[in-house]
Amino acid sequence: MTSVFDNLVGQDHIIDILRSAVTASRTGAESQEMTHAWVFTGPPGSGRSSAAVAFAQALVCPNQGCGACNECQSAATGVHPDVEDIRTEGLSIKVEEIRELLTRVAWAPSMGGWRVVVMEDADRLTESAANALLKAIEEPGTRTVWLLCAPTLHDVLPTIRSRCRHLHLRTPSLEAVTNVLINRDHIAPGMADFAARISQRHIGRAKYLATNETVRSNRKTIMQLPLQLASLAAAFQAAQTLVDLATAEANASSEERDEKEIEKLQEAYGKGATGRAMATGAAKAVKELQKEQKSRETRMVRDSIDGALLDLTTFFRDVMLVQAGNQDALINTDLRDQVQNFAISTTPHSILNKISAIMQARIDLGHSAAPLITCEALMCQLARK
Ligand SMILES: [Zn+2]
Repeated sequence: MTSVFDNLVGQDHIIDILRSAVTASRTGAESQEMTHAWVFTGPPGSGRSSAAVAFAQALVCPNQGCGACNECQSAATGVHPDVEDIRTEGLSIKVEEIRELLTRVAWAPSMGGWRVVVMEDADRLTESAANALLKAIEEPGTRTVWLLCAPTLHDVLPTIRSRCRHLHLRTPSLEAVTNVLINRDHIAPGMADFAARISQRHIGRAKYLATNETVRSNRKTIMQLPLQLASLAAAFQAAQTLVDLATAEANASSEERDEKEIEKLQEAYGKGATGRAMATGAAKAVKELQKEQKSRETRMVRDSIDGALLDLTTFFRDVMLVQAGNQDALINTDLRDQVQNFAISTTPHSILNKISAIMQARIDLGHSAAPLITCEALMCQLARK
């Protein structure tokens, strides 16, 4: 029989725990196996939110997570009345959002089992939002199960994490990711191996790369940048290219969505309504939405630049491997010649400096440094011998 847990690649160590929790949950009471607060951590791409959603499905499914029934499908698509999937598009989750959520989940579950809240970015809770959430998690005897996802335990408030059961997901093996792409997504073996490698075993990213030619070609352009830093002017040009490509990638997905959201909101207020109160209300709501969209756009551009910088790091990592005499574990197998030439013309010490310069740029961007200036400063550092 198929199960929602089949899709969790390389996570056998937690699947057993989740399965026995689901079995124990049938009694309707808390037990050693089944507790009401969980935190899922793991590196990007390990599938922490997929694991949490699968668990949510299994908790509301009459067949313990068959993946096929109404309950399973509506839980996965976010329309199940007892399953809330909270993901933020903004930079943070605010206390108002948590308060509103708490009112919604105060009701008893409609189907009689558990009410499940999946919070995909628990690391983005503001401090006051986290405290509001803490009160709810502390409350005994409720029928609500909290599934929080975050990169590491340190990203969750200590008071919250001490009340949660912790599950850590691993990065799946290269072979496991390649096989999923071949078997599940019907991608040709050569492409599957390439995508699994360059995405550094990030399943979602690997699929995106394998099925999207523009993304592959943009990445190729970015990976050529370290080879084109012969002058200061070239370094500035490289920074501009990187920011432009990252912005284009972020915008491609957001423009259409932004328009749809505004349209939907106007419809909700009755488009073309003439009443003054109605018009003011709609205008205010649209303005509010546009502000949110702007903050999402900023985050997406930053995430996209961060992804490009991580890609660049793999180039220098490969160079260092070659300098150490190891040719077998290259990530960028398509750039083998360029990596080898680079390895000959530089020292390991200089490569280490370049990698730490990239890491510093990522930290600066995380603290809201201006993207273009940060990338210009970085490229100038990378241009040094
Ligand atoms: Zn089911």
